[in-house]
Amino acid sequence: MELGDAKVKAGPAAAIVRLGRGLLDFVYPPTCLDCGAPVATTASLCPGCFGKLRPITAPYCPVMGLPFEVSIGPDALSAEAIADPPPFDRARSAVLYTEVAQALVARMKYGDRPELAGFCARMMHGAGRDLWEGEPVLVPVPLHFWRQVSRRYNQSTELARALARLTGLKVDTGIVRRTRLTRQQVGLSKDARQRNVAGAFTPHRDAVARLKGRGVVLVDDVITTGSTVKAITRALKRAGVEKIDVISFARVVTGADLPI
Ligand SMILES: [Zn+2]
Repeated sequence: MELGDAKVKAGPAAAIVRLGRGLLDFVYPPTCLDCGAPVATTASLCPGCFGKLRPITAPYCPVMGLPFEVSIGPDALSAEAIADPPPFDRARSAVLYTEVAQALVARMKYGDRPELAGFCARMMHGAGRDLWEGEPVLVPVPLHFWRQVSRRYNQSTELARALARLTGLKVDTGIVRRTRLTRQQVGLSKDARQRNVAGAFTPHRDAVARLKGRGVVLVDDVITTGSTVKAITRALKRAGVEKIDVISFARVVTGADLPI
């Protein structure tokens, strides 16, 4: 049985945990994280919903992680990476932002199904396999203090914690703060998004020492235009952090006829 969050070890305590879970599954049978249909294991999707996810697989741009329709060689970059090189080193995402991915992210955002982060992180673990070397520190995209207070839940932190359990990497939520309350990015143009988040992030004054020279992997739920992760990357670079990669669960790919 695969369980998103709990660590199952051997021994009598584990037996009790397993028994407890068995009882829970009996009283509350596991349901699909999207449509609520009964499923065999907790924290999973039914085959129908799973089939609607579109995982991003090779070939993709080695910098932006954007999928290519056909392979154009191992070092070929996407038009976006050439025209507008990002400040971060590499971005990877698990799935395209399709309708089902959108529904999962919305549920995660409001803490509807806490086990969702575990499910998404399992997909991100595979998608980010190139990023885990060298013990980078996982840094969730921060919410502004007041937004965090009102929502009580930062989905990016939950994703980072779930990824930490899978990779053995550390999470640091104090490396960068969102010091300006920004408008929601939804519905803004690319330029407006860039203006909205410019200067919104403040790195920890001892970020480099705190990281002990290690790199950072920024963790986000969805990358739309990339304005937010670019703004954080720029802030961290100003603080002297050199190696910054990005991982998200979903990725908006323009031209792919998907909801934004
Ligand atoms: Zn389903």
